[in-house]
Amino acid sequence: MAKTRPGKRDLDSFTIKGSNKVVRAGDCVLLRPPENGKAPYVARVEKIEADTRNNHKVKVRWYYRPEESLGGRRQFHGSKELFLSDHYDVQSAHTIEGKCVVHSFKNYTKLESVGLEDYFCRFEYKATTGAFVPDRVAVYCKCEMPYNPDDLMIQCEGCRDWFHPACLGMTIEQAKLLDLFVCTDCGSPDVNKPQGASTASPIPSVKTEAKRLKKDAA
Ligand SMILES: [Zn+2]
Ligand SMILES: [Zn+2]
Repeated sequence: MAKTRPGKRDLDSFTIKGSNKVVRAGDCVLLRPPENGKAPYVARVEKIEADTRNNHKVKVRWYYRPEESLGGRRQFHGSKELFLSDHYDVQSAHTIEGKCVVHSFKNYTKLESVGLEDYFCRFEYKATTGAFVPDRVAVYCKCEMPYNPDDLMIQCEGCRDWFHPACLGMTIEQAKLLDLFVCTDCGSPDVNKPQGASTASPIPSVKTEAKRLKKDAA
């Protein structure tokens, strides 16, 4: 009669030690970095297994932080930005110290407030070549940069493009005081005068809806 040896078992979930947080496949998790004081690693759990000694292992797909990518951190990368890499690993479940949420870019820009556990991802990243998917994104402002959700931008009432106050020679405080903004390209005479106004007042209605404002309407 054949005896079955206990082998690897797939598990549906496990609970993070010392917490009541349950991790399942598909969840995003924070893993303890090998060096103290470094930011935790972030990964998506693909699979959970127990080996013959009942050690829990997780198959993870790593998220890279911009500074871990070959091109490094760029000005338009947000502080909570991550790239979903094609780099997979098996890790001991013990190294998982918490859960987090990796939002789509669109959902992230709609968050009322960004918590410690909130991140966003708009690019996939090929760890070996340093390539990004998609390899192009919409750019804004005179500086032609992709949107960094950490930076306040103001929208032109004319062309609907978005601008960094600094690129317009303004401070953020000055930009916040604007009721309405029209860029120099759109600001030709007669076009932007409010009805009935006798002066060429450049600024009636606010568009400093700031960093969380969705830009895809532009
Ligand atoms: Zn700019
Ligand atoms: Zn304009």
